[in-house]
Amino acid sequence: MRYLVTGVRWLFFAVFVVLLATGKLMLWFGLYAVSLVAALFFGRIYCGYVCPMNTLMIPAEWISKKLKLETESTPKWLKKGELPWLFLVLSVAAMLFFKKRLGVNLPILPIWLVIAVLVTLRYKPLVFHNLVCPFGALQRIVGRFALFAKKVDPKACIGCKRCEEVCPSGAIAVVGDEKKAVINTALCHQCTNCQEVCPKDVIHFAK
Ligand code: SF4
Ligand code: SF4
Repeated sequence: MRYLVTGVRWLFFAVFVVLLATGKLMLWFGLYAVSLVAALFFGRIYCGYVCPMNTLMIPAEWISKKLKLETESTPKWLKKGELPWLFLVLSVAAMLFFKKRLGVNLPILPIWLVIAVLVTLRYKPLVFHNLVCPFGALQRIVGRFALFAKKVDPKACIGCKRCEEVCPSGAIAVVGDEKKAVINTALCHQCTNCQEVCPKDVIHFAK
């Protein structure tokens, strides 16, 4: 499963590179718009499988750990949680400005790609996913209403926390007196990380 997911991610990344090389990157925003509709049914699959930032953040996190660059802490000014919305407004405003005044398309996606990698070289992936990414902000709003999403069977969960350790977005947490894992669908990328490590196979895609 892991190889299939990785293959899908790099396939979409190749599409992204082709669009970038041919000057048709604006088409990617059409794909993003479709993904917002899809999020109503299947959650944030764009973040988990399609997003080029997420695809590059995975090797960036690996490098960060190898070089011991990653820190557990999060800067206080990032913790407020409003920055993704500010970045979204600034990104749209900058794109409009460049198009109207200078007649060129601002390469906003490659710019965010570089930011995503740089942030991930220092902080845990959830910092960029939850506290920085402007594209994730919209996905979060829509994703919370997903008709189908990853769920934990609380009866079978043993509260071992293995899922917590591998979740890229801090979406799953063992909580309560009974120590059962619960998934926050708004944050969940619908990836397979938690399923792959769960010793009881209690995480499934469900209504
Ligand atoms: S890995 Fe599985 S059993 Fe362990 S806490 Fe997570 S959901 Fe529960
Ligand atoms: S909760 Fe599981 S499926 Fe959702 S983002 Fe975390 S690891 Fe991926």
